[in-house]
Amino acid sequence: MNNHCQFCRIESFKHQIICQNKNFHIIHSRSPLTKGHVMIVTKKHIDSFLDLTELEIKDFFKILKKISKSLKKTYKYDGINLFTNVGETAGQIIPHLHFHLILRFKDEKESPFNKLNNSKPHEIHKRLTREEIISRIKNIKENL
Ligand SMILES: [Zn+2]
Repeated sequence: MNNHCQFCRIESFKHQIICQNKNFHIIHSRSPLTKGHVMIVTKKHIDSFLDLTELEIKDFFKILKKISKSLKKTYKYDGINLFTNVGETAGQIIPHLHFHLILRFKDEKESPFNKLNNSKPHEIHKRLTREEIISRIKNIKENL
């Protein structure tokens, strides 16, 4: 637990939580790159997957599979990108391990990675309101 870390302060993202298991939270992004953009966040404060235990790795893939199935039913995506940034050089902003799950669609106009590579990504893609996040989570939860 690190008091300065936004992923350690559950109050700061409570309304974004879709589901959880012993070691991970699945949270909905505030500024989704595509619909259904969620993050898999460790409950403990570590900055890299190199610090995961064997049990946590197993838990990670269990919850990844669960949320991916639910998102498939909800959004009928055609593909998935799963990634994490480790280290500032790789673009890690929050030093608390989290994986981005980005849904991809055959008919998408632009790669979501173009938005990511923009120097001010939050200025070019929409930030969801609290109500919008809650409504999307409700739809995903119905398919869990
Ligand atoms: Zn943390």
